[in-house]
Amino acid sequence: MTRIAIIGGGVAGLSAGIFAQLNGFESVVLEKHHEPGGQCTGWNRQGYHIDGCIHWLVGTKEDTAINDLWKTVGALDGVEVYHPETFLTFEHDGISVPIYRDLDLLRETWTQISPADAETIGEFCDTIGQLQSFEVPADKPMDMMGLLERLRLMASMKDAGMIMKEYGKVSLKEYADNFEHPALRETLGSFLPDGYSASSVFFALATFTKGQASVPVGGSRAFSLRMAERYRTLGGRIEAGCEIAELDIDGNRAVTARAEDGRTFEADYFVAACDAHFFFEGLLGGRYPDRAFRSRFENPTDYPLASQVLVSLGYEGTMDEVPRSLSFPVESFRLLGDPIDRLTVSHFGHEPDFAPEGHTLLTCAINQFHADFDAWKTLSGDPVAYRSEKERIGRCVERAIIGRFPEMAGKLRVLDVVSPLTYERYCNAHRGAFMAFLPTVRTKGMAHTGAVKGLRNVFLSGQWLQPPGGLPVAVITGKDSIRRICKQLRRAFVDR
Ligand SMILES: Cc1cc2nc3c(=O)[nH]c(=O)nc-3n(C[C@H](O)[C@H](O)[C@H](O)COP(=O)(O)OP(=O)(O)OC[C@H]3O[C@@H](n4cnc5c(N)ncnc54)[C@H](O)[C@@H]3O)c2cc1C
Repeated sequence: MTRIAIIGGGVAGLSAGIFAQLNGFESVVLEKHHEPGGQCTGWNRQGYHIDGCIHWLVGTKEDTAINDLWKTVGALDGVEVYHPETFLTFEHDGISVPIYRDLDLLRETWTQISPADAETIGEFCDTIGQLQSFEVPADKPMDMMGLLERLRLMASMKDAGMIMKEYGKVSLKEYADNFEHPALRETLGSFLPDGYSASSVFFALATFTKGQASVPVGGSRAFSLRMAERYRTLGGRIEAGCEIAELDIDGNRAVTARAEDGRTFEADYFVAACDAHFFFEGLLGGRYPDRAFRSRFENPTDYPLASQVLVSLGYEGTMDEVPRSLSFPVESFRLLGDPIDRLTVSHFGHEPDFAPEGHTLLTCAINQFHADFDAWKTLSGDPVAYRSEKERIGRCVERAIIGRFPEMAGKLRVLDVVSPLTYERYCNAHRGAFMAFLPTVRTKGMAHTGAVKGLRNVFLSGQWLQPPGGLPVAVITGKDSIRRICKQLRRAFVDR
C-alpha cells in the first residue's frame, strides 16, 4: 500500500490525513506538539478555557462547497453554529459604531450616525451585498481544472474580480477617508492593520453578512480534535510529540523523515503541512529554494506578517449587554516601547463552558509586526525580563478594561499572556505569524501548488499556499495535496 507521511497535525495536516485515508493510502501524521490542532487550538487556565483561534470560520453556511468540506472532515458535522449579531463594535468619541450582520440595519444605523455620509454608506453596503455572490472555491485547485471548469469558476468570480480591480490597490485608510464622519472613518480605517487593501474589508463583510463566517460552538480546540477523531476513525495514526528535523533525499525523492528524537519514518510520499519558511529552510535545509516564497520572505515591507500578543482574562460576572467584540480607546500604555491607545476585547459569553458558572472569558489581541517580533526576540534573551514584560502588559490591559468598564474593578484577573514567540515555539510559525502574507496594496497574489522543484514526492500544504491563509486555506490545501498525489499515481480522487 502506498504510504504517506504528513508532517504537521494542524488543520491542513489533519485534512491531508483524512483524505489520504479516504483514498486508500496508509498514512501517519507526525506532530511535534503533544496534541494535534496546530494554531487552531485552546488551553485551560485557572478554571477557564482560553480559545486561541476561531473568531470567524468561513464555511458555516449550509449548502456551500466549503461547508460540505468542513463536514466531510468532521469539523462541523452536527455542530451548532453561533451567529453573532455584530462583527465588531467600534467606539469613537462617545459614538458607538456597530458592524452588523444585517446589512440593512448597518446601513440604517450608520446613516443615523452620519446623514451626510448616506451616499457613501449606500455604496459601501451595495458593494458588500454584490460581493455576497462570492464563494470560496473549495472543490478543485484551478491548475487541475479543465477548460470548462475554469470558465465556470471565472464566471462565478465576476463580482469578486470587479471589486479587486476597483479596490485591490486602494489602501483601507484611503478608502475610509471617503467618509466624512470621524467615527465611521476610524471604524473602517482601523478595521484591519495599516496597509491592508480596501478589498479585504469587502470580502470579510460580504462573507460575514451572508452567514458564511460564524463561530462553531465549542471553540477551536474541540473543532480540530473532531478532525483528529475523524482521521483516527478512518484508520489514520497520529504520532504526537514527534518533531521532524529533516527529510532524507535520494535523487529526486524524499525517502525518510527524521525526528529530533532519532525516530525515522519512511514513506512513498511526504506532505509538509507545516510552516512554509520552516519547510524550505529547515526541513529541506535551503537546498530546494522556491522563488515565490523566498522573494516574499525577504521583503517584509511589501509582504508583512502579523503576529499578536494575546491577553486572556477571567471576569467574575456576565457580559450579556456588551457586544461580542468591542474596540475602544484606552489611556495610553506602552508595549515594548510602542504606545497602545486602543484595545479590541472579545468576550465568550456565548460559551458558558469556557468559564466557571456566572463568569466570562475575555481575550484581547494586540497585533504585532516585524520590528515587534525582533524586540520580543531580543527581550527573550533575558527570561526574567521577558516574563515580567508579559506580566506588565497583562496588568496594563486589565487596567485599561477597567477604565472602560469600572464595574469590573476587583472582578477581573489576568489568566495568560501569549507573545509572538509562543506561536513560534509551539507551531514553528515563522516570526510567530498567525496568517500568511497580508494582502496589502503592494502585494502580488500568490497561489502556490505546493509542488517542490526537484522533488517528485513532496508537497507543501497549509495556510501559506494561498495568502492570507486561515482555516479554509488549510483544509482545502490539505485535501488538494492528496488529490495531487492521486493524479501522479493516475488514481481517481475520492472526495468524501
Ligand atoms: C490567534 C489566532 C487567531 C486566528 N483566528 C482565525 C480565524 O478566526 N479564522 C481563520 O480562518 N483562521 C484564524 N487563524 C489562522 C488559523 O489558525 C491558521 O490559518 C490555521 O490553523 C493554519 O493551519 P495549518 O495546518 O496550515 O498550520 P498550523 O496550524 O501552523 O499547523 C502546523 C502544524 O505543524 C506542526 N509542526 C511544525 N513543525 C513541525 C515539525 N518539524 N515536526 C512535526 N510537526 C511540526 C505544528 O506544531 C502544527 O501543529 C488564527 C490563528 C491564530 C494564531
